[in-house]
Amino acid sequence: MSVKPRDLNNCSRIAEQLALRIESGSPVHAYAFAGGDPAERLQLGNWLAQYLLCSQPDQGPCGECLACRKFLHGNHEDLIRLKKQADRESIVKDQILELTDRISFKPFGKRYVVIIEDAQLMNAASQNKLLKTLEEPVSETVMILLTEKSEALLPTVLSRCCVFCLPDAATATESADVQAAERFAALIASGAPFYRKKQLVADIIADKDSSRIRADAFLAGLEEALAAELKSGVSKSAGEGSPGRLMDAVGHVEAARRCIKQLHSVAYTLKQLCLRV
Ligand SMILES: [Zn+2]
Repeated sequence: MSVKPRDLNNCSRIAEQLALRIESGSPVHAYAFAGGDPAERLQLGNWLAQYLLCSQPDQGPCGECLACRKFLHGNHEDLIRLKKQADRESIVKDQILELTDRISFKPFGKRYVVIIEDAQLMNAASQNKLLKTLEEPVSETVMILLTEKSEALLPTVLSRCCVFCLPDAATATESADVQAAERFAALIASGAPFYRKKQLVADIIADKDSSRIRADAFLAGLEEALAAELKSGVSKSAGEGSPGRLMDAVGHVEAARRCIKQLHSVAYTLKQLCLRV
């Protein structure tokens, strides 16, 4: 299955920029993905690696060609994964030497792709060794460095990489809730059924730790989104009853916000809202 930038949720904007660059035929030799959620960082690194190895890419890896199938089975000859060995404290210089040795030979396909996981664990000696490779790039190699924070890498290493800072988890959740609010407003405008609206709030209800805070942010976002729908007049095209539905919804959202502030059940309040709007 092909994976497009939009499928990378919180990293979709970064993925779009990467795709633009690759589709224009000019991938850079080294990327650094810093911060954000570790699982999402790895997912983005893997996506880019598969994309670069795919033989029929289109805004992402196709998921079906031989290169993609090998990648997904974890046995692509040109993919090199470098991580800290279990019995070591850091990624040591010998590992980098082994790497540079290997990429001095021709790749099996069009290029080598190297993913360095937890690149922040490279010690200074390793980083300096890597720097040599980054300074004199082997034409058929693309390096992808995944790091907890960009400051963990030497400025000289960073300056050789195209650096992307991933959104941190809290910001990402917040923006996901705001996006959900925008989609929710569009569903109200089009008169969508209860279950589709309920799907959008299920994630907030399920979040035991911060469902109240998230519900408040969601409802605030929904108020804004409804106001924007009404103002833009887009809702007119959604059908006759749309402006009326939106006006009614504004009242229901205000009531739901009061319920959340008065500590009523978040699950009950949001489900009631889905029924009423
Ligand atoms: Zn492919």
